[in-house]
Amino acid sequence: MEQGSKSKVIIAGGGPAGCICAYFLQNNFDVTIIDKNSPLLTLLPTGGGKCNLAHAEFDFRELAKNYPRGEKFLYSVFSRFGTSETIEFFKNIGVETYIREDIRIFPTSNSAKEVREKILSVLKNVKFKKEEVLRINDGFTVVTDKGSHKADYVVIATGGHASFKLIELLNHKIIPPKPALTGLVTKEDFSKIAGVVVNDVLFTHKGISGPAIYRISSLKARDNLPYELCFDFLGEVDLQKALNSNPHKDIKNLLSDYVPKSFAEFILGGFNPKCHTIDGKTRDKICEKLKKFKVTVLDTVKDGEVVMAGGVDLNEVNPKTMESKIVPKIYFCGEVLNIDGFCGGFNLQNCWSTGYLAADAINSFFKSSLT
Ligand SMILES: Cc1cc2nc3c(=O)[nH]c(=O)nc-3n(C[C@H](O)[C@H](O)[C@H](O)COP(=O)(O)OP(=O)(O)OC[C@H]3O[C@@H](n4cnc5c(N)ncnc54)[C@H](O)[C@@H]3O)c2cc1C
Repeated sequence: MEQGSKSKVIIAGGGPAGCICAYFLQNNFDVTIIDKNSPLLTLLPTGGGKCNLAHAEFDFRELAKNYPRGEKFLYSVFSRFGTSETIEFFKNIGVETYIREDIRIFPTSNSAKEVREKILSVLKNVKFKKEEVLRINDGFTVVTDKGSHKADYVVIATGGHASFKLIELLNHKIIPPKPALTGLVTKEDFSKIAGVVVNDVLFTHKGISGPAIYRISSLKARDNLPYELCFDFLGEVDLQKALNSNPHKDIKNLLSDYVPKSFAEFILGGFNPKCHTIDGKTRDKICEKLKKFKVTVLDTVKDGEVVMAGGVDLNEVNPKTMESKIVPKIYFCGEVLNIDGFCGGFNLQNCWSTGYLAADAINSFFKSSLT
């Protein structure tokens, strides 16, 4: 480093994690974000364009419970930069937020576009380069498709969808990424009831989807395919009792009291006698079909995932600083880490928190250089 000049930080990836990291570094360092695309494009589709940027869970341990991968690692992260700090950060950059009934946090504008513009507008001291990072050589030289750039510190925030090659070249272990928060392709054909929702399960032409399935896809992201799921569509309903109490009702009409009519038709497949004429064995079968509705999951819906489960092995990252335990002065933040959460603002929260921590750790070098 030249006398008097600032140390250089290169951030590979200008998504939410890379950008918040740049924000907290820009006053102390010469910061460049290198992204193969325009920065923060990935923010635009979040929350259906409204940007569900966090979740109103203010207890850091409770917050961390929403991450099938990363829970323990996130304790110390969230204890330092959690939901309150996120709201505060957005307030400071001019983005007011509100808590929706389902305790998800959104910008008051309900606009991911506005959040993107606000964040970019406060990265005043950050340089941007539209290049693809290919390799990070010792020292550091960041090699891209268009040239190479020197850096004293490198932050890798390339997300969960990009190639992990450049990280593997640093001898880091990568947990192979698998799609999570996604619809599922099933062996059973549900196209006849596509669009029907039963207890939070949405049937589709390909299989099943909806909030409950997204959560299941996340919990089972690392399971081997195919796997079986079993749904109870009756809950507390005692169908045998209902059959006895409604002897003269058509079975389809009776079932329609508890599940959508089209689903009742699908289950019965044209069978529709009065309840009192149905023998015991058939009654048991109908109850079983609804109480233990089985599907075989063959795959996830292609390109349908919200997040990838997998990434940089957390055992090789310091949870207090986000620094690599393999290569000092290399940092990771955001979805590139083996961290993923449920729907509800948790994945962006991971970006804000780990992005801040990486910046804070690098800033401590600046502070110690002053003393
Ligand atoms: C449709 C959709 C809706 C979502 N909604 C929400 C939501 O409402 N709330 C929520 O919390 N989460 C949501 N998510 C998840 C959330 O968007 C991601 O978890 C988050 O964007 C990850 O941020 P990141 O900065 O880690 O990575 P990314 O956003 O993936 O950014 C990585 C950046 O790195 C760049 N890059 C990659 N490789 C290279 C390379 N080699 N060289 C240069 N640049 C590179 C990419 O171009 C990209 O700009 C949603 C995701 C999707 C797909």
